Amino acid sequence: MAQRVQGTEDLFGGYMRAWQRMCDVARDLFGAYGFDAIETPALEQVDTFVHGIGESTDVVRKEMFRVFSGALLPEVLERGSEGHLKARQRMAMRPEGTAGVVRAAVEHNFVPQGGSPSKLWYAEAMFRGERPQKGRLRQFHQVGIEWLGAPDPAADAECIIVLIEYFKRLGFDPAKLRLVINSMGDANCRPAYRESVRQFILDHAEEMCDDCIERAELNPLRAFDCKNDHCREVMEAAPKVTGALCDDCRAHYEQVKRYLDEAGIAYEEDPTLVRGLDYYTRTVFEVEVEGAGVGAIGGGGRYDGLMELEGGKPTPGIGFAVGFERIYLALQSQGVDLAGSEPSCVYVACMPDARDAAFRATLALRSAGIRTEADYQGRSLKAQFKQANKLGARLCVVLGSDEVAAGVATVRNMQTHDQAQVPMDGLAAYVTEQL
Ligand code: AMP
Repeated sequence: MAQRVQGTEDLFGGYMRAWQRMCDVARDLFGAYGFDAIETPALEQVDTFVHGIGESTDVVRKEMFRVFSGALLPEVLERGSEGHLKARQRMAMRPEGTAGVVRAAVEHNFVPQGGSPSKLWYAEAMFRGERPQKGRLRQFHQVGIEWLGAPDPAADAECIIVLIEYFKRLGFDPAKLRLVINSMGDANCRPAYRESVRQFILDHAEEMCDDCIERAELNPLRAFDCKNDHCREVMEAAPKVTGALCDDCRAHYEQVKRYLDEAGIAYEEDPTLVRGLDYYTRTVFEVEVEGAGVGAIGGGGRYDGLMELEGGKPTPGIGFAVGFERIYLALQSQGVDLAGSEPSCVYVACMPDARDAAFRATLALRSAGIRTEADYQGRSLKAQFKQANKLGARLCVVLGSDEVAAGVATVRNMQTHDQAQVPMDGLAAYVTEQL
């Protein structure tokens, strides 16, 4: 039997409705904040991610799905490298949304010199070659926003405010949300801080795992969230970024916190929150749900250097992404069903001699925007009623030769079993009123 790829899921039924609901809520809420929808290709040049996310990150080194066309693959395998390929021939499935949106913003000049900020949101599948487990997939879905060209700390605060509002609208109890924030500094102060953490790891090399020792050179800050408990204990004594921020970064961070306080948003500060991608500067944040056991359901931060890394003019940026699959699980753990109930429908049941009238009634109801089902298998009236109940139809339109002769339909309420005779030309209006 054919099987789907491990770590991927089929979205259908209530699960699909839940994903669509996430997109609908995003469209309404982010639209109100002035964000326009964007969709970038699932395939990008590898360099788009290497430049942005960073060569040394786990996402780029280990988790990115690389794509070679069938025509190129034999040559790459034979040579054992892709060094001879042109940049445009080296492709990857997007592991996250920001790098592609920023690449598009550079390519189409979304933020011209002296122009207004560009505000974009997306809902897309992402691909990461991770070991599949609960809440960790190889193809998953993210909804995110990117706000380009806004250096003001108010943008950081608003980004967090809209994120929390989004979670509320999806049905989370705000009291159960744990928002953690930090500032990672910028190009002025982070290099010296990074060096101090690198030195700390090397000084404690004997107590740390091989991965962390490798991280010391590549990406020392990642040692703060090593999966090894002992490494994390050792890192508790490592220098914290809070004491290493330059004056500008500190002032920015303080202002973000003041705005959050003013907006009544509860947060915790965690100086070890570093996030997995290299492009973050200054504000970073993550949200977890108490007791859900699925890890972070969303996170983001400022990335003031990313536009330049993607070949554009220096342009500040900030954004976040939330993961659908984890949100679904987290809401389930809180007893909230993101899928909601199936949309109500009307069933058109008929005797064989009223088939044509049923055909016309079905079309008329659908033209009026009413979700309508009917029998296409020549079943008995009893079986049609059974089917109507199975589909959760609230009303059943019943047509037999008597109805056809009188130009009416019998409309039956499936709960109360009340029936009414309705003229055919007023059927859609009557049904709309009853639903
Ligand atoms: P990140 O881009 O890693 O900050 O992830 C943002 C959000 O996407 C996370 O908070 C998760 O909700 C979700 N996410 C990240 N990786 C995965 C994955 N492999 N499977 C499912 N959801 C994920």
